[in-house]
Formats: sequence, structure tokens, C-alpha cells
Amino acid sequence: MSLTTYNKKRDFKKTAEPSGDKNNQAEDEKLIFVIQRHKASHLHYDFRLEMDGVLKSWAVPKGPSLNPQDKRLAMMVEDHPYDYKDFAGVIPEGNYGAGIVEIWDSGTYTSLEQKENAKEDEKLLKAGLEAGNLKFVLHGKKLKGEFALVRLKDDESKSWLLIKHRDKFAVDEAYNSEEQTPKNSPINKWLSKNKPEKAPSKKKS
Ligand code: MN
Repeated sequence: MSLTTYNKKRDFKKTAEPSGDKNNQAEDEKLIFVIQRHKASHLHYDFRLEMDGVLKSWAVPKGPSLNPQDKRLAMMVEDHPYDYKDFAGVIPEGNYGAGIVEIWDSGTYTSLEQKENAKEDEKLLKAGLEAGNLKFVLHGKKLKGEFALVRLKDDESKSWLLIKHRDKFAVDEAYNSEEQTPKNSPINKWLSKNKPEKAPSKKKS
């Protein structure tokens, strides 16, 4: 796993995001996941799963869903450092991903088989990732239960689908992750203060 691409895209003198200078994984610790809501040029959700000491990452434009009928497009992006799990805040103008990030959900996760040993679990997850068919169980605050990430046809493709499996945590009604976001979340507050100017703007003379 390499953080070269991650580091190349960022100037750590200008952004408070963690630099990817180390892989970080505690032995016997549970694997973690995080979903960051990110208002950059477009609002999207970044879905990250810890594997091999880094965070495998997908950008999910519509956000995750608990409704098994939804297949949410998830574009695979560069690995992020483990420490990114705690990142929230403003990425200044002119930097990669400029805008604002907040943590939307976080917790631990396992493979579908839920091996006792985290290392064994991780081996299954890595095999799933390579096969383009990753099945896992999330233990988050908002997202719980079985999910799959499935790569679209082409092996080279960065396009995956994020799908909820039917279990006791699945819902039948429409699921909109935006409605699961508090109205006064850091991003929502920031957006209300930084409304884009309406064009044409009437300048008072
Ligand atoms: Mn992002």
C-alpha cells in the first residue's frame, strides 16, 4: 500500500490534513471505518476502510444508504493515511479538495465471516478487495450491518457500487444520508455563512 499519490496531491504546509508519512496499525485492534462528509467543488461522502495500515477510500457522490435497493456509485480514490480517520475541518482554497470535511459516521468493521483474529479478518477483506467483491459488516452509529462494495466489470475500473445487504438493519423506505445529517453540523453551519454569491450580484454603489 502506498501513500505516494496522497502525499503528491497535498502541501502539508498549507493544509491541516495529516501527512502520510507512516502506516499505522495497532496489533489486535479492531479495524476501523470512517465516513467523512466533504463539501469540495461538490458535496460528497468519503467512505474509508482500514486495511494494511492505511484507509482504502471511495468517494460516494450520493452518500451511503441503508436501503438494499440502492446501488450507490463509489469511485475508488487514493489510499489515505490511517490518521485521516480523525480529520475534520477546513481545507484552504487552492489546495486539493478545498472546502470543508466533517465526520459523518465512524466505528469498527469486520469481514462478513467475522473472524476472531483481526489479522485473519483483514486477509479475507484484502482478498475481497482484490477480487472486486468486498463484503463486510459495519458497526457504526448510523451505518450497521452487512454491506458490499462491488467493482464494476472492468478490472481497471475505479467505479464500484456500495450496496446494503438485507438484514435487520436494512430499511425499505427511501434513505437519504443528507436527512441523517444534523441541520447544525459543522458543514451546514459553514455553508450558511459562506453562501455562494448569487449572479448577477447587485453591487451597491
Ligand atoms: Mn473527498
